[in-house]
Amino acid sequence: MSGPQTSPSQSPLSEFPNIATDLLEDLEASPTPYHAVERAASLLKKGGFEVVDHRGALSSEPGRYYLIVGGAMVAWVQGDSDQAQAAYTVVGAHTDSPNLRVRAHADVVSGGWDQIGVETYGGLLLNSWLDRDLALAGRVSVLVDDTSQQILVRDHSPILRIPQLAIHLDREVRDKGLKLNAQTQMNPLWATHSPDDNSNDPSAFVSYLADLADVATDQILSWDLMAYDTQSPALVGRDLDMIASARIDNLFSTFCGVHALLAVADTVGSSTPVLALYDHEEVGSETSTGAAGAFLGAILERISVAKGLDRAEHLVALANSFVVSADGAHATNPNYVDKHEPNHHIAMNAGVVIKRNANQRYATDATSEAHFRAICSRLAIPVQTYIHRNDLPCGSTIGPITSGELAVSTVDIGAPQLAMHSIRELAGTEDARFLSQALQAVWSA
Ligand code: ZN
Repeated sequence: MSGPQTSPSQSPLSEFPNIATDLLEDLEASPTPYHAVERAASLLKKGGFEVVDHRGALSSEPGRYYLIVGGAMVAWVQGDSDQAQAAYTVVGAHTDSPNLRVRAHADVVSGGWDQIGVETYGGLLLNSWLDRDLALAGRVSVLVDDTSQQILVRDHSPILRIPQLAIHLDREVRDKGLKLNAQTQMNPLWATHSPDDNSNDPSAFVSYLADLADVATDQILSWDLMAYDTQSPALVGRDLDMIASARIDNLFSTFCGVHALLAVADTVGSSTPVLALYDHEEVGSETSTGAAGAFLGAILERISVAKGLDRAEHLVALANSFVVSADGAHATNPNYVDKHEPNHHIAMNAGVVIKRNANQRYATDATSEAHFRAICSRLAIPVQTYIHRNDLPCGSTIGPITSGELAVSTVDIGAPQLAMHSIRELAGTEDARFLSQALQAVWSA
């Protein structure tokens, strides 16, 4: 269905007429968290943002800055001295998505095939990875002049396949459904095994990787490599108003955040806008670049210190701050309507979703919801409310974690989507506009 319309003339906010097209390009350019932050960096650079080295001191000068650590990024607009003690308005999202990651000892030989041994990352829908044309991307650590360097790599060729067992060899699959063993049935194949190939030194995989990274095999030290679907993101549906793509959870929010920050960078409100793109949300966030740690808190404190605040003033700034945690929300699946709370159905292309959970799987409370609703309502941005069924365990996101780490009022929101954690998810083009507008409005408030 198509949602309420807000025409550009009704809204004082910057418009992105092609935000859906931009989003398709962003998704295509970002097969891994490392590529996602590089993509975000290239967009921010065009908007006048300067990169800062997270290992050095932050600048005291007003300006637009971002820093990258691994697959995570923080970007902010630092105001002049009048704004020195301003609170922070943080929009948080995550750059990682469930996928398959290449093991350290990657070469597997089985049944006359050469395969790549993989670990499952996060709660992926295993079945969705079958019979797809998969490629590899990520980062490789290589030895150069006695020091290790990280190289981003991406192979666009569909070198991997995980073939489903033919129905003739699995007669019960239609009645009993498909059950997959993540250890024994998810290794992709990539070549037929040559019977006279007994050499394992160096491994076939390391040789391949050295070619991809353009280094010698003995320079390869380590890697964070993951499989991705080579099928490009596309507009789908009768009205072409839906986006089908991998990694909509949560690059949809990531890039709406980047677009919104670029739009408000010239006219920030009374608080300091911060975009926090975390890694590792899909595996619990307890990492050096995840939400459940010192990452964002330390950077906010360093920004405060750079602006001349002492610790007491920094804590006052935090006490006045606000966090918007943006992550996917479950739209109602028409084939499983009874899996949704009957009074809280979510429609696609019908507005930003506020997520509530009495057990605090989402951080939204009446105060943070009211603040967010009031901002959206001023600009006629439609909102919907999601609540999970009591008889199904509710997912969670970075909202409660960030809120707990910083002790800052937080609202959990997101764009409606279907097939969350499938290799090919579905979201609405209008919702990209609504989400970007809502984030702009929060930062402009
Ligand atoms: Zn997510």
